[in-house]
Amino acid sequence: MLILFDIDATLLTTSRAGVYAMLDAGRDLHGEAFHIENMDFAGRLDPLIIADMLRLNGVEPDAARMAAFRERYGRRLEERLTASPVARALPGVLELLERLDPRAATGAVSLGLLTGNFPETGERKLRAALIEPERFTVRAWGCDSPHDPPAREHLPAVAMTRHREVHGREIRGEDITIIGDTPHDVSCALAHGCRVLGVGTGGFSADDLMGVGAHHAVDSLADVEAIEAWLINTTR
Ligand SMILES: [Mg+2]
Repeated sequence: MLILFDIDATLLTTSRAGVYAMLDAGRDLHGEAFHIENMDFAGRLDPLIIADMLRLNGVEPDAARMAAFRERYGRRLEERLTASPVARALPGVLELLERLDPRAATGAVSLGLLTGNFPETGERKLRAALIEPERFTVRAWGCDSPHDPPAREHLPAVAMTRHREVHGREIRGEDITIIGDTPHDVSCALAHGCRVLGVGTGGFSADDLMGVGAHHAVDSLADVEAIEAWLINTTR
């Protein structure tokens, strides 16, 4: 069994430090008028967010500009997360991970990440929230889609490949549970026959996430006992 966690608004919050670091990067590289009005961030891949952000500001998102933005965003995020303790694990997260540890140690459960973040910024956010990225043996990042344009729906297949590389055996979609806070998390799971747990700690309620097809949804991960029981029970 593989459990894949989304990062932002599922495992942790950075109190929008990530969004503001992107705005910082845009202003550094493209001037003070750079703005992010009406941008949609929730559940989207960072490469898509950045490309949209550049277009919104009249900048063609070519490879060099995308790379420069990614680099500057990483630096600005580092500055923001170092300057103030804005990042924290969401309720229940640290305890749930601890409870899953013994199962992970026996190999009964593998823990992973499926996120729109880049690896360097995703790991930085996790560390800032006191979650060790090394806990997660299978990681699918926002820049890992092999397709153009990239989409979150491509990432479960990336996670399946990583699982084979790391653990030496195949895993089927039905043996994967994705935990996330947006309809994008739900749809990427359903596209691969994965089970999905919606968590209402982002901009969508548990009811919203059930409404788009989550198999189960909770207001937060705080009731760790019930959530662990649901995760380990493989009947849907
Ligand atoms: Mg999220």
